[in-house]
Amino acid sequence: AHAFVHPSTSRPASRLSMVATSPPSKPGAPTADWSPESWKTKKVSQGPNYEDPEELDRAVNTLKKCSPLVFAGEVRSLHESLARACSGQGFLLMGGDCAEAFNEFNVDHVRDTFRVMLQMSLVLTFGAAMPIIKVGRMAGQFAKPRSEPDEVRDGVALPSYRGDIINTEEFHPEARRHNPANMIAAYHQSAQTLNILRAFSTGGYADMSRLHAWNLDFVEETEEGSRYRQFATKVDESLRFMKAIGVDTSSPIFTKTDFYTAHECLLLPYEQALTRQDSTTGRWYDCSGHMLWVGERTRELDGAHLEFVRGIGNPLGVKISDKCSPEELIRIIETMNPQNIPGRLTIIVRMGADKLRKNLPGLIRAVQREGKSVLWISDPVHGNTYKTEDGIKTRSFEAIRAELRAFFDVHDEMGSHPGGVHLEMTGEDVTECTGGVSGVTEQSLSDRYNTYCDPRLNGKQALELAFLVAERLRK
Ligand code: PEP
Ligand code: MN
Repeated sequence: AHAFVHPSTSRPASRLSMVATSPPSKPGAPTADWSPESWKTKKVSQGPNYEDPEELDRAVNTLKKCSPLVFAGEVRSLHESLARACSGQGFLLMGGDCAEAFNEFNVDHVRDTFRVMLQMSLVLTFGAAMPIIKVGRMAGQFAKPRSEPDEVRDGVALPSYRGDIINTEEFHPEARRHNPANMIAAYHQSAQTLNILRAFSTGGYADMSRLHAWNLDFVEETEEGSRYRQFATKVDESLRFMKAIGVDTSSPIFTKTDFYTAHECLLLPYEQALTRQDSTTGRWYDCSGHMLWVGERTRELDGAHLEFVRGIGNPLGVKISDKCSPEELIRIIETMNPQNIPGRLTIIVRMGADKLRKNLPGLIRAVQREGKSVLWISDPVHGNTYKTEDGIKTRSFEAIRAELRAFFDVHDEMGSHPGGVHLEMTGEDVTECTGGVSGVTEQSLSDRYNTYCDPRLNGKQALELAFLVAERLRK
């Protein structure tokens, strides 16, 4: 019955409406004990080492004058969609590079990820029969936490590469210096990326009558490509039927889509500089991205990252591995979402299939017992990274699929909603993860291993995963 649903929660009118309707103490509402800088009183894990405070001030002051990248009204409409997903009416699809990079940036790179996500969302819509909320790890996903502060090569130690927003991957001292000016370059690249995404999502590219054109050349010849084509044909038939009975298929619900951005809230000087008070509601929003998440390595209860995010109005995420106990999770939830507002907080579970089967039931039980409203999603990639004998960081499609299966099984047992997936992926034909229909092996990894950090699923692997999830969602 839901075969005609557009793969989005498109409500274009709300994008423009800036009406202030907020009752007091909504997320982001000003309070005496928080400011965009109050994180500075707390311990900063994984922070950069800027040597010259004046150089840092100059960069932060430049950013403070830059226009917001996202707008409060957009952030609120994402929040509303996530709130519906919390009650089982929606599924969150997050995807994109592990780390965006200055050298890898071009229009095609952004477009390819965007269009695989459109394809995945179409497939998932059929499976879930509910709105798919699309959020790119894009337009701000630059800073990386690292397990080692230094990298040693041939007896020489230099600071680890922490993403282009902090330093440069090349192994020499000036490149590895933490350079505040990189924040400005990252801001400008993010502005370009958002401009491309806005054009693609509203300017006709995402029109449902074009969905055959979303197929990527290298996916076309595969089994997934032809399955996708069958889906697209079904949708075409449905559209023709609707047109025949008088439905206006040129209305925005068919021609536009909502596409949001998110990144790890890691580099606090950058986030602070882009945090602004919304003129219509007075609430604080971090205007660097629609949604921000705190990583597994920086989610300490008394740390700077939770201090920063608790005061912003954006929807938040937090990554959780097997190291997080149910008690700790409840305290994290109480810090990040003290008013227990649905849609405010997404728990991103990443622990590998076996640990997930062991640990997730207890976490869900605690959340249910305490009556907390959260959206549970699975990041099936970060708990499954390993090095090959040749020292290449990779992930296997089988392990990723096993973690997803475990995630869905546990939610079935617990009666909770498996609310989404978070993936490191690209639309490009890279060879960074092994397995799946794409047939990448450990031996062929080096053919097109382009990532600046963790290995990404390529377009075929990402689409294959969407089919697997869709099958699982179909009741
Ligand atoms: C990431 O998402 O790239 C990341 C570093 O994840 P995590 O915090 O889960 O390790
Ligand atoms: Mn990563």
